[in-house]
Amino acid sequence: MKIVLLGPPGAGKGTIAKALMQMDGSVQISTGDILRAEIAEGSDLGQQVEAAMAAGNLVTDELIMDIMEKRLLDEDCKRGYLLDGFPRTIPQAEALKRLLAKLGEKLDCALELDIPRDVIFDRLTTRRTCTNCGEIYNVKSKPPRVEGVCDVCGNAIMQRDDETEEAIENRLRVYNEQTAPLVEFYRKDGLLVSVPTSDLEPVLAAIKERLGN
Ligand code: ADP
Ligand code: ZN
Repeated sequence: MKIVLLGPPGAGKGTIAKALMQMDGSVQISTGDILRAEIAEGSDLGQQVEAAMAAGNLVTDELIMDIMEKRLLDEDCKRGYLLDGFPRTIPQAEALKRLLAKLGEKLDCALELDIPRDVIFDRLTTRRTCTNCGEIYNVKSKPPRVEGVCDVCGNAIMQRDDETEEAIENRLRVYNEQTAPLVEFYRKDGLLVSVPTSDLEPVLAAIKERLGN
């Protein structure tokens, strides 16, 4: 499958991507994870994006396209990819469209997780992330077995810098202004599948209906 995942921060794009990935061997490509790994490494790129990310602002389209133009050429993308957090602006969506045309590839759909904002806000303020492997927890609905410790890899889980209330409000504002227009962009291209939930079953049903199987 080649799918773009759309939806506000905290909608559950990462969780859905991981589930789809296990089903057909597509890779999840999360630009947020790529950038956080660069920051953790202390690379030049990481240092360049750290402040913008902590405040919940987007990094530049040029930087993201540099990363994605290379990433989509990797061998593991041949079996399909679930784009999680990319594209995030109209210029990125247009650049992706040109890139895919050049590569002779087609998206199966753009899947929008259309989740109400109050639900999102609640989820984000209670979300915790493993600093090492990226596994996501929730202090209310999915706590780790041992407080503060990742079940998967044993490293520390923490609240992300951009998950303070102030940064979350900013991320939601940035989403409304810069990313929400992509819903119309993909609707016009006939690629939009919109679901009002991030529960796996109805999401899978909508994708299957779309793919015609
Ligand atoms: P979420 O979807 O929970 O907001 P992500 O992990 O997708 O978080 O992204 C975290 C941050 O990384 C964003 O707030 C932004 O600063 C940066 N980022 C990730 N993807 C992009 C992108 N495609 N364009 C610009 N900035 C991005
Ligand atoms: Zn972990």
